[in-house]
Amino acid sequence: MFQLPDWTFEFHGHRCPFMPIGYRMGELAKEKLDVGKSLNHDMHVFSEMGIGHPQGCMQDGIMASTAATFGKGLIEKLYYGKVAATFWHPQKGAVRIYLKNEFADSLSPHEFFKYRKKGVEPSEIPEEVRADIIDKVLNATNEELFKVTMLPDFEYKPVKGSFAKGKCEVCGEYVFERYLRIKDGKKVCIPCSGFHADEMFLPKVK
Ligand SMILES: [Zn+2]
Ligand SMILES: [Zn+2]
Repeated sequence: MFQLPDWTFEFHGHRCPFMPIGYRMGELAKEKLDVGKSLNHDMHVFSEMGIGHPQGCMQDGIMASTAATFGKGLIEKLYYGKVAATFWHPQKGAVRIYLKNEFADSLSPHEFFKYRKKGVEPSEIPEEVRADIIDKVLNATNEELFKVTMLPDFEYKPVKGSFAKGKCEVCGEYVFERYLRIKDGKKVCIPCSGFHADEMFLPKVK
């Protein structure tokens, strides 16, 4: 049976099946790319999750396993609404890992989801119900869980890190230069500019 460190549940906040699925995705990605945890700015993860589905919990598992964290700018969402992620390492290439339909189908009749569909939050679901569905995830083999695709042509150019900052000429607050906008001849921050941050900072992958 796959062993999951207990701190990962503490970090995630509750015991659910999707955080462990993400953790196992991360472990498998490190194995396939032959890399360890990203101590600095190494692996980048492109999660295909969107918003508003409980499967999003998997992203905390991915971060726990790979240390490709939100804070280090190493995980981004593509908003495809799929339980999948691509793991890219600058020296090692990329691999996409997708949770197999068959495994998703085998989980979905579980009592855990009856509670979830009634709006019961994971931490309120009886412990034995949660333990049972988590065991199903931990007892499955990688082959039962995941479709794995190596992506030899995957390209990504991470944004270059910069400490350069300027001052918004309207509110006076510091802004990292990339985010300064020009409005009426003045350098301003995004909230003062009236522009939206929208899509310009979404990851560009192909
Ligand atoms: Zn969760
Ligand atoms: Zn401002």
